[in-house]
Amino acid sequence: MTPDEEALRQAIIDGCLALNAAGINQGTSGNIGARYEDRVIVTPSATPYAAMTPALLASTPLEGKPRWSGPLPPSTEWRFHRDILRARPEIDAIIHAHPPHCTALAMSRRGIPAAHYMVAAFGGSDVRCAGYATYGTAELSALALKALEGRTACLLANHGMIVLGETLEKALWRAGELETLARQYTLSLAIGGPVLLTDEEIDDTLRGFANYGLKATS
Ligand code: 13P
Ligand code: ZN
Repeated sequence: MTPDEEALRQAIIDGCLALNAAGINQGTSGNIGARYEDRVIVTPSATPYAAMTPALLASTPLEGKPRWSGPLPPSTEWRFHRDILRARPEIDAIIHAHPPHCTALAMSRRGIPAAHYMVAAFGGSDVRCAGYATYGTAELSALALKALEGRTACLLANHGMIVLGETLEKALWRAGELETLARQYTLSLAIGGPVLLTDEEIDDTLRGFANYGLKATS
């Protein structure tokens, strides 16, 4: 393993620990995947993050039939990690988690509309909720890819969320922003619901982000 790959693997583990410490994820649910050269590196399935070391992460070439290396089985969600990296060349990191407010909305099969200008940090005027499919299936991967079209986040019905990043750092930032947005939207629903921003107002925000240094879209 090159020093670069080892550093990326350690950053993935640090990211998992940071998500749990921030309450964005809990236990061994959720997973992180990242592109390294022509491979995907993904956290192993059902492994406590505190016990994880770089050598325990799983890896397979992105193209062709999976050929996993590593001592533990890959995350059960390896399909959507691989499929997203294949379909979205601008994306290098993927976070999947079950944050309480994102998941509460996903349980109602509800996406997040333009209730706050920060929705534009995910590429457009909403964050969609993908339809339901059993965890770990190719069907779930296909539904997630569709809900992620033109976006860097989606909710997964009765399950959780996915956020994408051009870098792992950006994906971690979006994970925190998405759960904050979901919490704000949930609170707003409890007091009668938000007044939504128009497409034009969201377009203004997207243009502003381009100059602000937050590139909301790929
Ligand atoms: P893994 O432990 O296999 O990564 O699964 C966790 C999860 O969130 C499945 O959707
Ligand atoms: Zn999950």
